[in-house]
Amino acid sequence: MKTNLDIKALDSAHHLHPFTTHHELREQGPRVITHADGVYIYDEDENQIIDGMAGLWCVNIGYGRQELVDVAAETMKTLSYYNLFFQTTTPYVAKLADLIAEKTPEGLDQITFGSSGSEAVDTAIKLIWYYWNLEGKPEKKAIISRERAYHGSTVAGASMSGLPFMQGIFDLPLPRFHHAGPPPHYYEYAKDGESEHDFAMRCAKAVEDKILELGPENVAAFAGEPVMGAGGLMLPPEGYWQEIERICRKYDVLLWSDEVICGFGRTGEWFGCQTYGFTPDIMTMAKGVTSGYVPLSATALNKRMADPIINADTEMAHGFTYSGHPVACAVAIRNIELLDELGLVGERGAEISRYFQDKLKTLDDHPLVGETRGVGLLGALEIVKNKETKERFDPAGSAGLACRNHCFQSGVVMRAVGDAMFLCPPLVISESEIDEMFARIRKALDLTAKELDA
Ligand code: PLP
Repeated sequence: MKTNLDIKALDSAHHLHPFTTHHELREQGPRVITHADGVYIYDEDENQIIDGMAGLWCVNIGYGRQELVDVAAETMKTLSYYNLFFQTTTPYVAKLADLIAEKTPEGLDQITFGSSGSEAVDTAIKLIWYYWNLEGKPEKKAIISRERAYHGSTVAGASMSGLPFMQGIFDLPLPRFHHAGPPPHYYEYAKDGESEHDFAMRCAKAVEDKILELGPENVAAFAGEPVMGAGGLMLPPEGYWQEIERICRKYDVLLWSDEVICGFGRTGEWFGCQTYGFTPDIMTMAKGVTSGYVPLSATALNKRMADPIINADTEMAHGFTYSGHPVACAVAIRNIELLDELGLVGERGAEISRYFQDKLKTLDDHPLVGETRGVGLLGALEIVKNKETKERFDPAGSAGLACRNHCFQSGVVMRAVGDAMFLCPPLVISESEIDEMFARIRKALDLTAKELDA
């Protein structure tokens, strides 16, 4: 058995981490997480840490569910793998497609599978392009998303993301990908005196302007998360999605809801588009579909998009070795059943979300907190130097980083993006665990204030 010191050394010697400045990590050494249970993760020193981020927005059902362990083991014994390329199927993938079709909004009932959110996004892009080719409108190829959006890190996903730091170094974005702004975050981007409704209309108008600039005849789809996640946890201002839906319909632009974070109970319904009352043509999902126990993602198409693809004489020449992997599908089915059985997308989910949101609001009185915001079991707070003027600490992001570190040391994981701190706990979190989580967060905020001399 290797010591923990060995693990750190091995990691620093051979492992290139995702989204990391490597020399910095190698100087300080990684944190080693060794096990997890419920809402807690544990490090090599047996420190118990509340996982306020459900891993990477994915462990909806919490860690260590025996039901998922059992179904994975059983499926590995029964059918460890089979592919879907040879006009074959498995009971697992057929049942999962049926179950997801039951949960998605009316009409979005044709499902194809991948392993990651980025694969689901790439799949959606290709199927959108294929759809317009089949419709005899091959010029309709531009994909519009929003500044600061995150839609994955493959060549296409990174192109669609509105985050320049993950594009320039790789000579991205590819042509055909366009970004509209401002992103829909009222606190940060509204003008003085602008109402939330007017701000929503201005954000939606930016999308319309981009469609008109490119020419509607060239625009294939608009993509957005119901609540923008990794790019800044931005809640859509009132009326935003209805206006976006109207604009997409007006210019015959497909509406794509990226539900990789929002799906499977995160915002209170099965999907974020249901929470915000719009109906997309295409949806991408991952993460919560298996609660992160095994990798699986899915792309759902409505009838409009699926019919020409189903009726085409050409083969839909797209898919992956692990599309609809039996073990992943079996875990996803049991995970979705559990979310149902435990009422986590239902009565219990609504109850615990209310409790969580009330507790989040209590942080408004903290001198560092400029805004709290959230929906379902998603929450964020903005760290500011001056609550009145919204002035930030200098340099940007330093306060977020300090707070993130104090959170970890205080026994809670929060993610920092700039000076915004995010929460996305497992849906199984209890009232007492929420109390403990917010006590730890308040302590971390106090320590941050001390460090920043605020
Ligand atoms: N789309 C959204 C909205 C995401 O948040 C993410 C990941 O966080 C992705 C796509 C990419 O998913 P993955 O990291 O599984 O490739």
